[in-house]
Amino acid sequence: PTGPLRALDAAHHLHPFSDMKALNAEGSRIIVRAKGCFLEDSDGNRILDGMAGLWCVNIGHGRPEIAEAVQAQMAELAYYNTFFKTTHPPAIRLAELLAELSPPQFKHVFFTGSGSESNDTVLRLVRTYWAKLGKPDKKVIIARRNAYHGSTVAGASLGGMGPMHAQGGLPIPGIHHIAQPYWFDEGGELSPEEFGLVAARELEVAIEQLGEGNVAAFIAEPIQGAGGVIIPPSTYWPEVARICKEREILLVADEVICGFGRTGRWFGSEFVGIEPDLMPVAKGLSSGYLPIGGVLVGEKVASLMVAGEFGDFNHGYTYSGHPVACAAAIANLRIIRDEGLVERVANDIGPYLQKKWLALGDHPLVGEARMVGLIGALELVPAKPERRRFPDPGKVGTICRDFSFANGLVMRAVKDTMIISPPLVLNHEEADELVRLTEKTLDDTYAALKA
Ligand code: PLP
Repeated sequence: PTGPLRALDAAHHLHPFSDMKALNAEGSRIIVRAKGCFLEDSDGNRILDGMAGLWCVNIGHGRPEIAEAVQAQMAELAYYNTFFKTTHPPAIRLAELLAELSPPQFKHVFFTGSGSESNDTVLRLVRTYWAKLGKPDKKVIIARRNAYHGSTVAGASLGGMGPMHAQGGLPIPGIHHIAQPYWFDEGGELSPEEFGLVAARELEVAIEQLGEGNVAAFIAEPIQGAGGVIIPPSTYWPEVARICKEREILLVADEVICGFGRTGRWFGSEFVGIEPDLMPVAKGLSSGYLPIGGVLVGEKVASLMVAGEFGDFNHGYTYSGHPVACAAAIANLRIIRDEGLVERVANDIGPYLQKKWLALGDHPLVGEARMVGLIGALELVPAKPERRRFPDPGKVGTICRDFSFANGLVMRAVKDTMIISPPLVLNHEEADELVRLTEKTLDDTYAALKA
């Protein structure tokens, strides 16, 4: 029964990223079950999950193969750790599988429990790496404004979100933020290609200012997700890769959203054509069925670790390589691989949905529609064709998101940017429904603004 559950939720549960007063005034939406691309709430509504949970349920909801793998592993070995010379078959097998599926420079993985923990691990790995090479001053990590890299202290510090920094006195020292390649908002009169170069060169300027001897790494998502599905101009990544190489700084690609097929390649780095040194992962690693993350560590750093140069790397989590989470991840990666889901995104459902999604750019409320793989955005604008924003950022996006829920579709609003990132198993019929519901949602929002 919805009523009593909602009251209990209001009485006891503090939700992430929520104003509890506003949430409780409205009442939380209680999701009771899910199958494939659809959710069901406690009022019996069927909702198309256009966000794959939180950008993570790549194989769709309710796959029995995962439940079976998890149950079998629970019965065999529900928990053991990977500290102090011990390990277990699921961690070993998952590490092997990740080495097989990732680009050739990645033969090693360090397991964590989440994307945030993965980025905490990144921070310690890159600083330790340079210290062991006799360059202890190379400590500063350059990240981007408006980026999201998690909610732990290091994750939120690497992230570039002002409201997150404002709570708890972040960022921690030694982190420097530069531009995001967000042409729609920040490109001004430049072409996307010109702007891509300008944004990339901020990295070089920052390295000059900070001193090359003080900079350890640059971290960014290949395609920035929570910042608003920011697909960089084609000029951006080649220039960033050049700068990292010439300036001897490590390149970290946060693959927490982009990894495991979202862009139509196994990793977003492959999609944008870069060869990072480290890749933090989570989400699609287990399709969210159980919490697990990791850092794929390229040979540049891993070779030092396996040669004993790090000594003890004094870092790790009780749940690093949790056996049941590893079993879920193995079963999940096998589904992605054996069902050809990555190729499906590249050659079938990706192009199919992209065509229809980009056509939404003709709607009077949409200033730009963009999508690669199965990750896309719509920029809501007060008047076309200018790339101008509504005066009260986020207000219209929230209205649109609420219409979307009411119409039976989960979309996310990042201020006035509407986002989708559906499961990779989305079929053509579901893609049509997604577009139809989005169109209705845009119409409803437009009508409400005119009223
Ligand atoms: N990095 C990116 C790019 C993310 O999108 C997220 C989560 O949304 C994280 C890191 C943090 O992952 P988690 O929520 O698993 O800690």
